Amino acid sequence: VQRTLVLVKPDGVARGHVGEVLRRIEAKGYTLVALELREADEALLAEHYAEHAGKPFVQPLIDFMRSGPVVAAVVEGQRVIEGFRSLAGTTDPTTAAPGTIRGDLARDWGRKVIENVVHGSDSPESAAREIALWFPAL
Ligand code: ATP
Repeated sequence: VQRTLVLVKPDGVARGHVGEVLRRIEAKGYTLVALELREADEALLAEHYAEHAGKPFVQPLIDFMRSGPVVAAVVEGQRVIEGFRSLAGTTDPTTAAPGTIRGDLARDWGRKVIENVVHGSDSPESAAREIALWFPAL
């Protein structure tokens, strides 16, 4: 059975969407195996976004992710990596399909960073790396 790392990003927490994101995960039938509200530091986020190192949006992205608390969760289920990404919708919230988290709960605010409410791991390798980073005790 597969696991993925889900983050409710600071925009999602600030706008009161934690319950709605967790509701959609549970309604789909996935299981929460870890859940924590926390303030991520620079080192954790630089590691989390290591694949984007050098890109122009990486520092604005890290600053955004430090702008308030995030909710980090480990979610479990068959094909949950693909399944959560389907629940989340595409990266750009303007064109994310209605019915998805990003399509329903996010929009373009004209900022440097795309604020799109959630993160979900994109592969089994990323999920293992990210879960070890955010929940080293698991
Ligand atoms: P997806 O894989 O569905 O695109 P993701 O969250 O994995 O979602 P990444 O491409 O890994 O997206 O980018 C990480 C995050 O960085 C995005 O969710 C978004 O918040 C931000 N981001 C990505 N591309 C840009 C960009 N061109 N300009 C500003 N912010 C961006």
